[in-house]
Amino acid sequence: MLPDIPEKYKEKLVDIIANDSDTVHFFQSIEDNTFISLSESFDAKDYRELPVLLRESGLIEKESLPVFDVFCERIDEGIINGCRENSLGTDLSIKLPGSDDFKMCHMYALFLRDENGRITDIHYNIRPYSPNEYFTRDVMKVFSSDKNPKIYSQRCRRTIDSNPDKQIAFIQFDVERFKMINEEYGVEKGDELLQFFNDSLALICRDDQPFCRLTADVYMIVTPFDTKDEIIGLIHKIESMLSGFGGMEYRLIFGVCIVEDRAAHTRKHGDNASLARQLIKGNAIENILFYDKSMKSKLHKKQQIEESMNNALLNGEFLMFLQPKYSISTGRIIGAEALARWNDPAVGMISPAEFIPVFEENGFILKLDCYIWEQACKKIRELMDLGIKPVPISVNISREYIKTFDIIGKIKELIGKYDIPISMLELEITETADTSGIEELVTQMKEAGFTMLMDDFGSGYSSLNILKSTPFDVLKIDRFFLEEFMDSDRGRKIIEHTISMSQDIGLGIIAEGVETGEQAEFLSRCGCDAAQGFYYSRPIPSDEFNQKLISVNK
Ligand code: C2E
Ligand code: MG
Ligand code: MG
Repeated sequence: MLPDIPEKYKEKLVDIIANDSDTVHFFQSIEDNTFISLSESFDAKDYRELPVLLRESGLIEKESLPVFDVFCERIDEGIINGCRENSLGTDLSIKLPGSDDFKMCHMYALFLRDENGRITDIHYNIRPYSPNEYFTRDVMKVFSSDKNPKIYSQRCRRTIDSNPDKQIAFIQFDVERFKMINEEYGVEKGDELLQFFNDSLALICRDDQPFCRLTADVYMIVTPFDTKDEIIGLIHKIESMLSGFGGMEYRLIFGVCIVEDRAAHTRKHGDNASLARQLIKGNAIENILFYDKSMKSKLHKKQQIEESMNNALLNGEFLMFLQPKYSISTGRIIGAEALARWNDPAVGMISPAEFIPVFEENGFILKLDCYIWEQACKKIRELMDLGIKPVPISVNISREYIKTFDIIGKIKELIGKYDIPISMLELEITETADTSGIEELVTQMKEAGFTMLMDDFGSGYSSLNILKSTPFDVLKIDRFFLEEFMDSDRGRKIIEHTISMSQDIGLGIIAEGVETGEQAEFLSRCGCDAAQGFYYSRPIPSDEFNQKLISVNK
């Protein structure tokens, strides 16, 4: 019994093992690069470390694997970079020798160190919970600080008070559009995801970094720190360890409040972190925001938008503006894009940049889009009735609802209701990082006979990937892409080749945000004849559009 264990530990381990027959023990020596099982029932001789043994022998239930991965990563990190903890533990569903079933167990790694604090050996043990213990554990969890805001608040206070020489940060994070995860993958998967977050945070956070699940999918961590890089480092660690659970696609967003007034109630710091987190929503690039005092007024604006949006729709405060699209060579209007405007009688025109992200987040965008689609169809009918030759109008489709709403059904219904040719309504979808669902929608819309435009091409996401898999008809070159790339020889070459490539594969092309004659000339020389931008016309009220169409296309 107990072969190969360094003498200094042997005596202690004999005692532990003798008194605890249900538990299986392993010993890994980092220094000597050896790994042994101390339980006869477990044969470990073909393995060099416990994680590999458990994984390769299929002894961990699938559901427990993501947390197990975090557990292993943290151990590796402790071995390589050192860590303050003396142990690391987590609950996993494991199949122990002699049993055919998976059982909930506590897995525990005890770190043994040399005089410099470096981890030299790890004593692992795996202990199954008895049904009673398991029940007690669940009851205890209810009272633990990661479930109980009052205890949590006391722990936060202690963290502030016991670190007088350090700065303190309150970090709050949640899953962007968690509602959609529940809709798309089911509530059960949503719950599993949150449980995984809880278990992983217990492994990631140190004792002096209390964490808590505040509500639904909102988590908070309080941490002492010296430099801002430490906070960013912690956030990146959380992000990387908590991403990709069960093959789901989601993004975490973080609000951070650095404590200024240490005597203030911990709730205040938490509220500030929350504010920063909520303001980040809708920002496609950043996912970390540090609180500053100006944020209160921004949030206020957002709340005002949310309070008044429903009435605004009923009162007809949303208007469809049309921005004509031109042929560069003939100067004629060849189409138009429908863009929403909000004319609030109290504050005047509100820009889409302000309200669209808010609507995308709270789901109201679907109502607005249906309204704009209908206005566009109505407009085409109106032109036809007035005997003005209509041009195709493109409308925007937000990716928020593409998987959950019957877009094709709705649009076909509108086409029928206004009895307009299908070729007169075109659809724009923005390229995004998350392409799932787009391919299917575009394919189906095309089968139904619609023209599909890829909006904002070149704005930074996986443009080329999506082109490969999704049968769009037309690329809309993004305004910033054009502006930025026009500036250099290399950039101009890229635009030129983008245009010729799109022609090569049979795609139409239009440039948006054309602001100068020079840009128009350049595009034309490269073979792109369609343009939309302030150089030709700003978006104009729907009424003015008729006049413009008549006078330009006469
Ligand atoms: P987008 O679909 O890419 O629309 C083009 C935007 O570029 C419009 O901004 C337009 O006014 C602006 N633009 C056009 N030409 C120029 C130019 O030469 N220079 C500059 N600086 N800007 C130009 P807008 O109307 O503010 O809309 C912004 C974004 O909001 C749109 O980008 C679209 O993503 C979204 N959006 C607007 N209306 C709707 C809507 O009804 N539904 C949905 N889902 N999104 C909408
Ligand atoms: Mg658009
Ligand atoms: Mg665009």
